[in-house]
Amino acid sequence: MTTDNATTNQAESRTFKAEVQQVLHILAHSLYTDREIFLRELISNASDALNRVQFEMLTNRDVRDPDAELAIWVEADPDKGILTVRDTGIGMTREELIEHLGTIAQSSARAFVDRIRETSKASASEIIGQFGVGFYSVFMVADKVTVVSRSYRPEAEAAMWESDGSEHYTVGPAEREGRGTTITVHLKDDAREFAQSWRIEQIIKRHSDFVAFPIYMGERQINQQKALWRRAPREVEPEQYHNLYRQLTLDAEEPLLHVHLSTDAPVDLHSILFIPARRERGLFERRIEGKIKLYSRKVLIMEEAKDLLPAYFRFVEGVVDSEDLPLNVSRESVQSAPVIQRIRKTLTGRLHRELNDLADSDPQKFARFWQEFGVFIKEGVAMDYENRGELLKLLRFHTTRGGDELVTLGQYKSRIVDGQKEIYYLMASSLEAARTSPHLDPFTARGIEVLLLHDLVDGLMLSGLREYEGLRLRNVDEADLELPGEVEAAAPQISDEQFARLAERAAAVLGERIKEVRASRVLRDSPARLVSDEEGLGRQMQRIQQVLGQEVEQHPRILELNPAHGLIAALARRVEENPEDPVVTAGLEQLYDNALLLEGLHQNPAAMVPRLLALLEAAARK
Ligand code: ADP
Repeated sequence: MTTDNATTNQAESRTFKAEVQQVLHILAHSLYTDREIFLRELISNASDALNRVQFEMLTNRDVRDPDAELAIWVEADPDKGILTVRDTGIGMTREELIEHLGTIAQSSARAFVDRIRETSKASASEIIGQFGVGFYSVFMVADKVTVVSRSYRPEAEAAMWESDGSEHYTVGPAEREGRGTTITVHLKDDAREFAQSWRIEQIIKRHSDFVAFPIYMGERQINQQKALWRRAPREVEPEQYHNLYRQLTLDAEEPLLHVHLSTDAPVDLHSILFIPARRERGLFERRIEGKIKLYSRKVLIMEEAKDLLPAYFRFVEGVVDSEDLPLNVSRESVQSAPVIQRIRKTLTGRLHRELNDLADSDPQKFARFWQEFGVFIKEGVAMDYENRGELLKLLRFHTTRGGDELVTLGQYKSRIVDGQKEIYYLMASSLEAARTSPHLDPFTARGIEVLLLHDLVDGLMLSGLREYEGLRLRNVDEADLELPGEVEAAAPQISDEQFARLAERAAAVLGERIKEVRASRVLRDSPARLVSDEEGLGRQMQRIQQVLGQEVEQHPRILELNPAHGLIAALARRVEENPEDPVVTAGLEQLYDNALLLEGLHQNPAAMVPRLLALLEAAARK
């Protein structure tokens, strides 16, 4: 039975709209995780109601109970399994109860049902917050809910709404003196934990700590109320930042850096972001990617918002709060919401600025940052075209001149030699391997600094770092680098004919694995190297594939042998005596393997051991 005659003094039973029934059914029967968020929803409704009455009182003096404290009271009776949430908010008339709690926006109900169907594993908290089904979430834990309310309008009577979450609800008259709403939740047997004080307090602290009105249990206020991020930065003590950080992250260590930003334009944005002291924090780390909590109008709308910062800042944790965000924003629409784009831009810009400031003001601390999070910055260089300029300033490199000290691209540029028009880098599997690379010979001879890249992610970074302030980046193993300045070539120890015979033998031994063999013009202290006549990028990807354990196709490269080196001369003389000499064969194989090994491109170093034993035996034999 339904009726439009809402002025009746009798209680009447009404039927929920079909969409509501569907939603209620799902809530009551399908969602068993995260049920605690029903309390967050009730409290956030109460907080909205308080906001609205506060607004009414500013504009309209004719309000019931103008002196009532604006607050929320949560009480529980564990024996009866009852929980109540009471507020002195705007209240609802009988018609409003029917309108607000008997229907649901068609579109959001549809979206909700669809979403539940397609993501069986999605957590209730994620979904409910997004679809504006807030109040109904109480039916995850309740087998009966009674709402008694009295509107702020002086002439309005108290009214009651009650439902067991099936197709029907009842509305009728009620006794209530003061303005506001009381929601009485009769808990299901399997939800009786929500009548335990400690549990309620835990939930309030977790989800509603920053609700702008006091939340009381008995005489005690449970919530902190004024959000730290809405205060002016100069009013906040360092200790308070640390407390917030601990609350958010469970990290016992102080964060490396906090950034507090509070602004009204171009967006309303209040945020505190933290950079943790470490990348890995051990046991208690929350292993999730989006570590930013998103609040809108002081209500937590997303626990793990991912789109507020570029992916490479995924180590940043904190809170973002904006009035400009619609409360029922869904995960899909977050990404495309223009306001999110503006927030993201503002936050990203601010983080870059703070990090660059840190590099100037506290190089030691920055060094710690770089050690822990440098890889993410390198990823950013590859991914974030827009902010590349800022990111390049943050990069730090080992170089042939820096020793253990890390060098910026700016420092590198400031000490390039006369005539140098390019930045040179070397890729290797480790810093030690890099420092012994034969490719460095011509650079050392000319006093040219070389960046030593020994990190897996460097290959990726280079895809976004083709040049720096007009200087192209070149891999030192490129075949035809034109290096500035003349350096006298080391004197060959063998004739051209001797060398040609060795080269011929090498080509025969290594076959398809190399493209050609030639005498090196640049090697000094090293016997051999592999050079490439293609651009460097392909080979960086090769290295990444290799480390990821994927099958790597080795592109044949040019083997350069150094005729001025004692080993090459000795091998050449042996070939002269015996073209098939097994020591020469093994020696050439080993030179080739050494070159791969130093660059981290060797697929199976252990396989070298038998050959090395044979060579050792040959050397030891008299
Ligand atoms: P939402 O809060 O997203 O609008 P809900 O289902 O949670 O959706 O609530 C529906 C409506 O019921 C609210 O918009 C509000 O008008 C009304 N309402 C719920 N709780 C209260 C309350 N404590 N006081 C006054 N109105 C309320």
